[in-house]
Amino acid sequence: MVRENEIRANEVAVRAPEPADAALAFIGRISTPWTSRLTCPRQGRHDGPLCTIEVFEPWAAGLEGVAAFERLEILYWLDRSRRDLVLQSPGNNGVVHGTFSLRSPVRPNPIGTAIVKLEAVNGSILSVRGLDCLDGTPLLDIKPDRTLFKPIAPPQPGDFETDPAATAPYCQKR
Ligand code: SAM
Repeated sequence: MVRENEIRANEVAVRAPEPADAALAFIGRISTPWTSRLTCPRQGRHDGPLCTIEVFEPWAAGLEGVAAFERLEILYWLDRSRRDLVLQSPGNNGVVHGTFSLRSPVRPNPIGTAIVKLEAVNGSILSVRGLDCLDGTPLLDIKPDRTLFKPIAPPQPGDFETDPAATAPYCQKR
């Protein structure tokens, strides 16, 4: 993992293909107290500082209904990350881990996610706690916390499909 875009002992960078296809649109901007990765939390906390999320037009109308949810899932673009490491050393000690076994901001598509506590909605501005991104981080999406959300559309056959061979889905394999 990278604090300021350096490469550490045993970390491996690859020549990443030019990103071209997803054409993501930034729909807003996140304001937080942190301007340096050296002080930013590694994961947000619900008793952490108040942060604001501004949703740009024409998307502000999409906030209709969000106030009903105590928690939201926020997706953001970790825009100051390098994107080329496949092995990273979060401990900066020569021990490396695969990028996809980490929640490091350094990844081929630097998408961050956080479950935030919604404190207030004022027009196009949400006040939340639980973020861990730098001031000015671009906003990708907002969704209700999945544990609070009940699909409004009727269920479909796939919703009931189970596999007898499947084990408890939330166990961590270690
Ligand atoms: N909670 C998210 C997740 O799990 O997907 C992000 C976790 S990531 C470990 C959080 C770290 O990303 C912060 O401590 C900071 O070092 C870094 N970071 C935050 N905002 C960033 C940005 N806009 N660009 C690059 N790095 C950022």
